[in-house]
Amino acid sequence: MSDCLFCKIIEGSIPCTKVYEDDEVLAFRDIHPKAPTHVLVVPKEHHETLADVDDPFLLGMLMDHVREIADEVLNLEAGYRVVINVREGGGQEVFHLHVHILGGKKLPF
Ligand code: AMP
Ligand code: ZN
Repeated sequence: MSDCLFCKIIEGSIPCTKVYEDDEVLAFRDIHPKAPTHVLVVPKEHHETLADVDDPFLLGMLMDHVREIADEVLNLEAGYRVVINVREGGGQEVFHLHVHILGGKKLPF
């Protein structure tokens, strides 16, 4: 998607602070962190929003990466929060499916 910010980050034409990458996902630090650790896990395949994804394999793959990145890359053994904002009403600003990992302090709900 030529006008998608996260597709441009994935292809490397916009820089990011990468924390993890493989064939399926890219994870990088959020530019406006809302916790001491705030990382976005983004599937390389473009999907606008969670509500559009009718693919249990993709969603399972994504959450499996989230779990592994949180523990093994970000060392968030103490705990963390996982957030997916869905469409405008859910606070979504970038319309390429992504998961927020927030941690590094005790998070009030
Ligand atoms: P959402 O509101 O769920 O769509 O989240 C989009 C997130 O992307 C926000 O938390 C932004 O701070 C973050 N963001 C926007 N532009 C960039 C960028 N160039 N690099 C890293 N994070 C970004
Ligand atoms: Zn995209």
